Amino acid sequence: MSAPRPVVVLGATGSIGTQTLQVADRLGLHVVGIATRRPSDRLVQLAERYPDAALATVEEPAGDLPTPVTRRLATGVDAIDAMAATPGTVVVNGVVGCAGLRPSLAALAAGNRLALANKETLVAGGTLVLDAAAAGGGAIVPVDSEHSAIWQCLVGEPGGLARLVLTASGGPLRGRSAAAMETVTVAEALAHPTWEMGPRITVDSATMMNKALEVIEAHHLFGIDYDAIDVVVHPQSVIHSLVEFVDGSVKAQLGEPDMRVPIQYALTGPQRRPGTAAPLDLAGRELTFAAPDRIAFPCLDLGFLAGRRGGIAPAVLNAADEVAVAAFLDGKIGFADIARTVEAVLERTADRSPASVAEVLDADAAARRLSTELLPG
Ligand code: MG
Repeated sequence: MSAPRPVVVLGATGSIGTQTLQVADRLGLHVVGIATRRPSDRLVQLAERYPDAALATVEEPAGDLPTPVTRRLATGVDAIDAMAATPGTVVVNGVVGCAGLRPSLAALAAGNRLALANKETLVAGGTLVLDAAAAGGGAIVPVDSEHSAIWQCLVGEPGGLARLVLTASGGPLRGRSAAAMETVTVAEALAHPTWEMGPRITVDSATMMNKALEVIEAHHLFGIDYDAIDVVVHPQSVIHSLVEFVDGSVKAQLGEPDMRVPIQYALTGPQRRPGTAAPLDLAGRELTFAAPDRIAFPCLDLGFLAGRRGGIAPAVLNAADEVAVAAFLDGKIGFADIARTVEAVLERTADRSPASVAEVLDADAAARRLSTELLPG
């Protein structure tokens, strides 16, 4: 059994970063790099907890930090990229937003294992990221529970993949009609039944845009056509996803919802280590499945549409959604306006294949400007 690699955590104070450090501690893994967006008291605590980890922040410290921290601290986006390129590491990318794209490319170019929780890396970066992995010898492994499930189902399978089925909890608005979506409040959209997550991803679960982005990620991660990716609503979130093979056999991965399970597998997989998940007892449990309501949740098909268009379209989808979700959370637009805004932005954007990260970020910025213009009200 080969030892798991030393760990670099990007976005170390976020939800994924915090849980990654818990898993790394329990497994006794060496944490060699910690990066956050801005210097904070929490970063100072982490610096004390991990005395030989390099530290990096995007922003400069606003006030005085303890000397033992500043001595180990590098700042700026280049410092984050350099940390992601630390040789022989597994780089957990829990950065939020397009800021995660560059360090992902740096990790892959350095031949590292990239444990990916940053959605924008594959959604916006797409084939650029796959090319970087091929060129640098790096490998992308998923952190997201659905993609981890698919990865786990594919271990030991040399081929014969026919179809992926991503499960979706359906979010807090499952069962509502399209008409009822017009009056959804922020509190209703934020009340996710099974997973605890940040506000954007929680709203994205309510619109099913989160699943749409996961479909695009699955297409890139597993090299499978959009026609062979399906989504099934499974409110209990016990089956994390399924894989169908050409002989009709279907494999699924199950477990109580706990992000530390896929995080651990991203660090150690395909090897298994003891974990903390609650034991799964299926006796007396009802697991239910339904087709998604594509009329009430139009974001799902907008994801398939953008994915099939390819090029900058998925980056535009993501950027428009981020702007629209922020406007919804600010009380500026209604819940159903999120999908309308994304659709309008996609309609007004011409297809183009980005040749560089700079072009992806340009498309992202242009989509954000257009989204702000097109917001209703
Ligand atoms: Mg997920």
